[in-house]
Amino acid sequence: MTRRHEPNELKKLLSKACDSVRNEVGVGKVASYIPALARVNPEKFGAAIITVDGETALYGDAQEAFSIQSISKVFSLTLALNKVGDHLWTRVGREPSGNAFNSIVQLEKERGIPRNPLVNAGALAVTDILLQGQSIESCKAQLRGFIHRVSGDPSIHFDEEVARSELETANRNASLAHFMKSFNNIEHSVEDVLQVYCHHCAISMSCEQLARSFLFLSQNGQDPLSREQIVSEQRARRINSIMMLCGHYDASGDFAFRVGLPGKSGVGGGIVVVVPDVATIAVWSPCLNSNGNSHAGSAALEAIARETQWNIL
Ligand code: GLN
Repeated sequence: MTRRHEPNELKKLLSKACDSVRNEVGVGKVASYIPALARVNPEKFGAAIITVDGETALYGDAQEAFSIQSISKVFSLTLALNKVGDHLWTRVGREPSGNAFNSIVQLEKERGIPRNPLVNAGALAVTDILLQGQSIESCKAQLRGFIHRVSGDPSIHFDEEVARSELETANRNASLAHFMKSFNNIEHSVEDVLQVYCHHCAISMSCEQLARSFLFLSQNGQDPLSREQIVSEQRARRINSIMMLCGHYDASGDFAFRVGLPGKSGVGGGIVVVVPDVATIAVWSPCLNSNGNSHAGSAALEAIARETQWNIL
């Protein structure tokens, strides 16, 4: 059973949970394979909860923007599903990969069809779908516009320095895209796909903005605050299922075991989770474990889920 909490109680539970993992902040390593990400302060730590009634609880650096990286794959997947519907599943699977987020090993055996839309190869195929019928610039504008719509915040933007930095070092993602192209699972030029992909990964958002923008997934696809239907109920359920099984790469099982809520992480150190019918939670702490997920962020979510008694099971 998921419990609801009074606003003051919620703030206290969030503080208690985050205080209890303070000494985990700084454990692990900041992502450095994207040079611009290596410059972030490893001591940052923030968390935000927003309920479907709009109650907000914030902790630490909850209002400071950071690079959302792979969390953006949920936005691109949602947009691509709204664009081509179930046809998407002919190009991307929906099984956990059990491999690293940027792994190439399964692609050869599975003939260029990535395991799921939340690993890099899958997100590159999704980006290719988004590019259909439009230019790079309009595709980027569409993504940014979608994030403005779900967050209610038109100030959210791409961090051009992070996008450039990733583009300059994108050899691994370029390999994945070329490999899929050899199986005809990338239609556009690899350069164009990478331009859009590296930009959506380089969106800057705070925990508060992220929690707000995922609220539609906690309420059957309808944003509970604006009342806008963003996706159908069935689609929201499916996106949550994919996050539950694939949102943390080869540590998805461990995350489900510890936290028990569908979520998505990024190498910027952010993680967002959905508590169906109740709330969303976003955390940020830049140091990552060996799977590329925020170390203190995962610990914080485990503590928050325990304190709030929020769990889908
Ligand atoms: N932009 C990053 C990459 O493609 C995203 C990876 C991540 O956040 N796990 O490598």
